[in-house]
Amino acid sequence: MRISDILAQRQSFSFEIFPPKGDLSVEQAEDIAKELCANQPDWISVTFSAGGSGNSERTADIGRRIERSVGTTALAHLTCLGSSRADVDAYTRRLQSAGIENVLALRGDRAPGREAIDFTYASDLIPYLKDEGFCVGGACYPEGHVECESISQDLDNLKRKVDAGADFLVTQLFFDNEDFYRFRELCDRKRIKVPIVCGIMPFTSVSQLQRMTFNCGASIPAKVVKRLVAAGDDPLAQQRAGIEYACEQVVDLGNNGVDGIHIYSMNRPQIGRATHDALVASGYLSA
Ligand code: FAD
Repeated sequence: MRISDILAQRQSFSFEIFPPKGDLSVEQAEDIAKELCANQPDWISVTFSAGGSGNSERTADIGRRIERSVGTTALAHLTCLGSSRADVDAYTRRLQSAGIENVLALRGDRAPGREAIDFTYASDLIPYLKDEGFCVGGACYPEGHVECESISQDLDNLKRKVDAGADFLVTQLFFDNEDFYRFRELCDRKRIKVPIVCGIMPFTSVSQLQRMTFNCGASIPAKVVKRLVAAGDDPLAQQRAGIEYACEQVVDLGNNGVDGIHIYSMNRPQIGRATHDALVASGYLSA
């Protein structure tokens, strides 16, 4: 199903997984998707070589399994930095033969040796994917993209992305919902009118929180630090604190009428279950 059609009908609930790398097999990744589907997500997105992991080969394969054997809508990520038009062409053919209708169009992070070839920004990739018939999403940044000097400049670039044809947006993780509400208001003033789905990532440890916020430039509010201080050195208590905090965040977002909630599950079904149950208890999702 096209995600734009889902978002036209209801507030969405969805998950992100990453494809196999290291010890994780394709079958195990499919099992994780199946477990997440017990929470009836509207779609599951599959990352593409996120964080330079190089595991893009399996994105289309896992997407196909989500569509065909798990029976849920898949959203395949695609980054364009370092890819030629022929590379993108080959990948989109694979997505089409896998029955995938939705693509998240991304530039990708800059890295040595990964220069722009035929596409410089996500907004260059979007018209190409639209012409191929895909429903296309784009990324957005409530606190501004890490490379961009000001939120206002980043919003101008976001408007370009939407004008290029993005059907919906998914946010970078954020820990303070007020940042998102401010951003939503600014988008509205810029006449960015497509649905904006909130991406929420529970923190699972102090080191993971530091790594992910450093990579994407998101800030860590004092209330998160206090939860971690209260959890002390106990890894399980830190993880519990992160999941509890994410549950409170999604319930507040749901109560504030957001277009959708997307959980960065980090391939952990218990994160999917906890956020689902919190949203059922709050009335955002039906039981
Ligand atoms: P763009 O929209 O191209 O923007 C990049 C920068 O360029 C911004 O600072 C923007 O303001 C600026 N800019 C845009 N257009 C112009 C213009 N015309 N002129 C001047 N400046 C411009 N990475 C992965 O590797 N794999 C993944 O699977 C993945 N999934 C993601 C999912 C989500 C929801 C998000 C939020 C991010 C994801 N990322 C992923 C990370 C993403 O690749 C990085 O954040 C990357 O640095 C920017 O990608 P973008 O598509 O937002 O870039």
